[in-house]
Amino acid sequence: PPERLRVALSQKAYDIVIGEGVLRRAGAEMAQRLEGRRVVIVSDQSVAPLHLPTLRESLADAGFTVAAEILVPPGEASKSFQHFERVVDQTLSAKADRRLAVLALGGGVVGDLAGYAAASVLRGLPFVQCPTTLLAQVDSSVGGKTGINTSQGKNLVGAFHQPKLVLADTSVLRTLPIRELRAGWAEVAKHGLLQGPLWDWCETDGPRAMKGDPEALAHAVLESCKLKSAVVTEDEFETKAEGGRALLNLGHTFGHALEAECGYSGQLLHGEAVAIGLGLATELSARLGLCSQEMPGRVREHLREVGLPVRIADLPRRFSIGRLMARMRADKKARDGAMRFVLLRAPGDVFTESGVSEEMVRTLLTD
Ligand code: NAD
Ligand code: ZN
Repeated sequence: PPERLRVALSQKAYDIVIGEGVLRRAGAEMAQRLEGRRVVIVSDQSVAPLHLPTLRESLADAGFTVAAEILVPPGEASKSFQHFERVVDQTLSAKADRRLAVLALGGGVVGDLAGYAAASVLRGLPFVQCPTTLLAQVDSSVGGKTGINTSQGKNLVGAFHQPKLVLADTSVLRTLPIRELRAGWAEVAKHGLLQGPLWDWCETDGPRAMKGDPEALAHAVLESCKLKSAVVTEDEFETKAEGGRALLNLGHTFGHALEAECGYSGQLLHGEAVAIGLGLATELSARLGLCSQEMPGRVREHLREVGLPVRIADLPRRFSIGRLMARMRADKKARDGAMRFVLLRAPGDVFTESGVSEEMVRTLLTD
């Protein structure tokens, strides 16, 4: 049977349903929670041929009408004003009223785009997430952040819009390219380091999950969603100065800088950048005497075992330290130009810190 996790937010609560074959139950799960019986489905051109038929059938069986199917090209470029306008237009053309639900079937790109359209049309339509990448199941579908990219940068336009329901079917991960699966694992490992016992589990059972063991994958998704939803309910609108959602940025100050240097080109996936970032953040913590000296080695060994790059030197290209430093100063999470890191004393014991000397960071990147 699927696992159910209740996310309790101030005004609204919703369920995350996790397990093998959850997509086949989508209609039944939605019928219990939605007032209307009309939906608009947003997906991408790679995911739709693989998984949309299952969803369609499940919706029809539960008495839902699909008012529109909107497919965008796969890839980050679809999180644009142009595709946002298309989704909004087609949703309105489907005779939108406040009971029309928007359903995202896809990875984080589709979820962020569809979620932002759902937040915007008639100032908010019910939104259902069917995340189909590991990254989307453990990270982007939880937390309520939606949005698109602009020429000024990634995720700069968006809204908080919580879903009514998240349906994470772990069986759809079987069609996911292995590189994408591994990239999603970087966020699972990050959640492990934030949570504690989940880290130990990752070290022993992570490789099994990466080989496709359904029980291990479902456990990884469930525990990740628990951790992320706990952090998010504490800090729903990212207003906390210390701790809170900022902790989810473990490994990301470094990761974002590497990603930005690669131009979000697919040359380096977000999760790959985060894997290197987790290694660096742990190394920095060890050099500052905060965590044990063997911790960076453990983190890198685990990430390497599941097939992720763990050092900047693992990448096929070279980076300018000066440019990486400038990127980290400009990171939107930086405060007054001071780089902000999430540091670790031990798995389950992390905190945000803005007082790390630039010299220390530069040396770390050079070594
Ligand atoms: P993605 O949506 O681009 O999906 C990756 C690739 O996998 C795509 O080519 C897609 O077509 C393909 N794919 C998806 N599911 C598949 C399946 N089951 N089988 C075969 N192919 C499949 O990328 P992603 O990594 O899922 O998401 C990245 C996006 O998520 C970024 O835009 C990022 O900003 C966003 N994000 C948002 C949040 C948030 O809180 N909202 C958090 C983290 C990341
Ligand atoms: Zn991330």
